Amino acid sequence: MTRRTKIYEGKAKILFEGPDPGTIITYFKDDATAFNAEKKGTLNGKGVINNHISEYVMTALSNIGVENHFIERTSMREQLVKAVEIIPVEVIVRNIAAGSICKRLGIAEGTPLREPLVEYCYKSDEFGDPVISEEHALNFGWATGEELDEMMHNALRVNDFMSGLFHAIGIKLVDFKLEFGRLYEGEECRVILADEISPDGCRLWDLKTGEKLDKDRFRRDLGGEMEAYQEVARRLGILPEADVTKIAEHRKKDS
Ligand code: UDP
Repeated sequence: MTRRTKIYEGKAKILFEGPDPGTIITYFKDDATAFNAEKKGTLNGKGVINNHISEYVMTALSNIGVENHFIERTSMREQLVKAVEIIPVEVIVRNIAAGSICKRLGIAEGTPLREPLVEYCYKSDEFGDPVISEEHALNFGWATGEELDEMMHNALRVNDFMSGLFHAIGIKLVDFKLEFGRLYEGEECRVILADEISPDGCRLWDLKTGEKLDKDRFRRDLGGEMEAYQEVARRLGILPEADVTKIAEHRKKDS
């Protein structure tokens, strides 16, 4: 890890130059943050699980034609991805009211939405990722109308697909955040899905019990974060028993 050129270190991931031009190695850390990094912690083994869950979901999305940056998982904590220019507009899709929308609009947590609700946020730690309208994104040049259309269209496809995927394993997909990036290929530029899809950026509730299987466990000090993340991976059929044991050992070593 030490000899490679670090491009960027974020809250949950480190990006290194990849082996070929136009590629990046993403290293998934165990660090967890919430409330715009006001709350910080370490969840031993989270990086390993998120790397695997993101691999699983991104691969499945590729298979249904949602182009994304994922190329291959290269180790327990790392994956090779296509280098893109991240668009500073986060896309949030909600099926059930939870989190910030409840605080902003006084909606009770758990209220089902009539149809999937898409919100845009300006990606800025300094300003706490504020909700913006399409007009803001256009006016300030953060994204073009075509790019926003593409992002909205793909976000709804991702929602349809992931809602079904999680429903099949007894989990409600409450909401999630997506990031998109510009992929430059010669003269061409396309918008593709980037970043990660994991319980760090989704709300996942057990269908029967309503138990939270996502980062809200950390945000709200509910405990059992790693067990919840592991449960999601287990239900998705990834991380077979042997690997779970390895992660447990790895966690012991780390702590
Ligand atoms: N989310 C995220 N990163 C962010 C903001 C939101 O991954 O910077 C995810 C979050 O985990 C949740 C969804 O997007 O699944 C909606 O988040 P919300 O706007 O309710 O904000 P939060 O309650 O997380 O502050």
